[in-house]
Amino acid sequence: SLVLITGGNGFIAAHCIATLLRSNYRVRATVRSASKAEATRKSLDAAGVENLSRLEFSVVPDPTNIQALVAALQDCQAVVHLASAFNYDAVPGEFEEKLMIPAVKGTQGICRAAEQISSIRRVVVMSSFASVYDASLGLQPGRVYTEQDWCPLTYEDGVNAPAVPVAYRASKVVAERAAWDYVRDNSVQYQLITLCPGMVFGKMIHPISSLSQLNASNQIVWQVLNAGHDGEIPPTKAPVWVDVEDLATASFRALEFSTSGHERFLVTQASYDTQEIADIIREKLPQKNKAPIGTPKHRIASTHYSCDSSKVQRVLGIKFKTLEESIVPLAQQLYSMAVTE
Ligand code: NDP
Repeated sequence: SLVLITGGNGFIAAHCIATLLRSNYRVRATVRSASKAEATRKSLDAAGVENLSRLEFSVVPDPTNIQALVAALQDCQAVVHLASAFNYDAVPGEFEEKLMIPAVKGTQGICRAAEQISSIRRVVVMSSFASVYDASLGLQPGRVYTEQDWCPLTYEDGVNAPAVPVAYRASKVVAERAAWDYVRDNSVQYQLITLCPGMVFGKMIHPISSLSQLNASNQIVWQVLNAGHDGEIPPTKAPVWVDVEDLATASFRALEFSTSGHERFLVTQASYDTQEIADIIREKLPQKNKAPIGTPKHRIASTHYSCDSSKVQRVLGIKFKTLEESIVPLAQQLYSMAVTE
């Protein structure tokens, strides 16, 4: 089978591509320029990804261009849609153009274009825990979020957000709602599967040449790694996480599991906190003196909400990695990048 992956040069997408190629799928990846295609192939090759001859690229500069999406989807049986801005660079005044439009119109565009390609059986949309939780309610100790929960932010909230994290969360929830609205209002031939991961950590195999290009979630880990022996433990934000390879496995199984309906999955391993990341570094890595000490073994899980991720384990058979299994290889990679910079 041939699967389209949008945003193919991104952190999570690269792992989705690797997982599909390993499972003998053919993959077509969209990127915004030919040079990004080349860089992605090179990076996957350097990471030892198998079956690269089954990977091709389609250059789609504008993620909201339906004709370009229809062309990219030709002959595909499924699509995993990841292209969306997850960075905190935009400033007030830019949120609609840089976050809301690409996320919402891009997701609507994928749903609409996929309807025009009769061979498409599944549309997997990479949503986020940002689409699930209500950050305005604070930490809510004891609260357990499930697939039934929806972040209340609207399109207008995103456009007029006071700060970029709010605009990002709005872009994710409004985009996911747009996908659900699309399949409700049109008789599509495919099933929609949305995945809502927490913070995604793990080793990177996508093209990245400098720590300054680090994707938003791995930046959280780098901030701990780089805080210095006598530094403060950076505050923990959005304290639920998942490993990138586990998420790639979930994306792959989302294409394969048997269902006649549309489905939404929370994809979170468990809670984490930045103290736990510091403890792992100090216990497991030779660079342990670079990470702050803080209050070793102190955990904040009882001070905030958690997630019920039983559905993704039961239905997609995901067995989650531990935080240590995810953080140690990432930390080794980040420290070695820092040495060469
Ligand atoms: P990356 O920043 O590594 O990748 C983002 C991808 O989206 C890149 O291919 C990027 O292309 C593309 N993209 C960004 N902005 C646009 C745009 N305006 N138009 C077209 N393409 C665009 O992010 P991740 O791999 O972390 O995230 C991938 C997806 O997963 C996103 O949808 C994100 O919201 C979601 N997600 C991520 C989480 C995480 O913790 N990392 C958690 C939950 C959800 P280019 O390089 O050309 O900019």
